[in-house]
Amino acid sequence: MSEGKFVLGIESTAHTFSIGTADWMGNPQASTSVSVRPSSGGIHPREAADHHSEKAAEVLSRLMHDQRLRPTDIAAVAFSQGPGLGPCLRIGASVARTISQRWSLPLIGVNHCVAHIEIGRQECGCDDPVLLYVSGGNTQVIARLDERYRVLGETLDIGIGNLLDKFAREFEIPFPGGPQIERLASSWLTDEPSPTLEGLELPYAVQGMDLAFSGVLNAAIGLVGKGAPLPAVCWSLQEHAFAACVEVAERALAHTGKRDLLLGGGVACNERLREMCTVMAAERGLKSHVPDRGFCIDNG
Ligand code: AMP
Ligand code: MG
Repeated sequence: MSEGKFVLGIESTAHTFSIGTADWMGNPQASTSVSVRPSSGGIHPREAADHHSEKAAEVLSRLMHDQRLRPTDIAAVAFSQGPGLGPCLRIGASVARTISQRWSLPLIGVNHCVAHIEIGRQECGCDDPVLLYVSGGNTQVIARLDERYRVLGETLDIGIGNLLDKFAREFEIPFPGGPQIERLASSWLTDEPSPTLEGLELPYAVQGMDLAFSGVLNAAIGLVGKGAPLPAVCWSLQEHAFAACVEVAERALAHTGKRDLLLGGGVACNERLREMCTVMAAERGLKSHVPDRGFCIDNG
């Protein structure tokens, strides 16, 4: 093992390429990140991978410069090994392997979902949570049982972030659609002092411990087609989709008897989802945690 004090972390599972560092106690420094923002459509894996490979050297030198690091300060290189978009993952792995060979450092493959759990555990100080992991491509409820992380429930089709992004794209809201849907939903609540879901009902996405969002997506697009105002449907979409996720998380809490809920992934930036988790946990006498936004989104 080298003399270095920090582990370099390389993230490239989807639209973000990011490099960060953490000390041996796992305390992270700010990451240096770049993201693809497609002008139209969703993320094209090949184009995102090309973007990452073009930017990788610049991101590394910016990080080393900003954190005043020399190669000898680094003890190991970690990289997102999956799950993620294949072409994007391959760029992160190649960059990590090159650095590891050039600087003679050990290489550590990291499961991306586990990384979302561990950063949340570390930042929020909760030891043994049920994780509600809500990102673009993934939606999973995960908990540790008998020394291993188990997926207790997950989406059977698209991730919840993907649901929001696809819905947004139908109405020419560029990627990522989630934040704009959140703004439209709150604008609806401001304009409509006593909002009702009547006429805005969407299918129930819970399937046992799993979730399925395609029907919700089609029905939400259909509501706008039938003349419902877009902000109203954004609000309804959030209410239905988030309630389904919170319901599966609640079932997992009941089943495992754990005392803490932890949110992670890009959709965990959403205030309404955070609020629903806080309310559900409080009603059960439990606690809901969420790390800072910079640690919810993908980061080195
Ligand atoms: P990730 O895949 O974890 O990088 O997260 C990206 C996803 O998070 C995208 O689908 C975004 O639309 C979604 N997202 C980011 N911010 C918000 C927000 N405030 N509300 C809902 N979704 C969001
Ligand atoms: Mg992620």
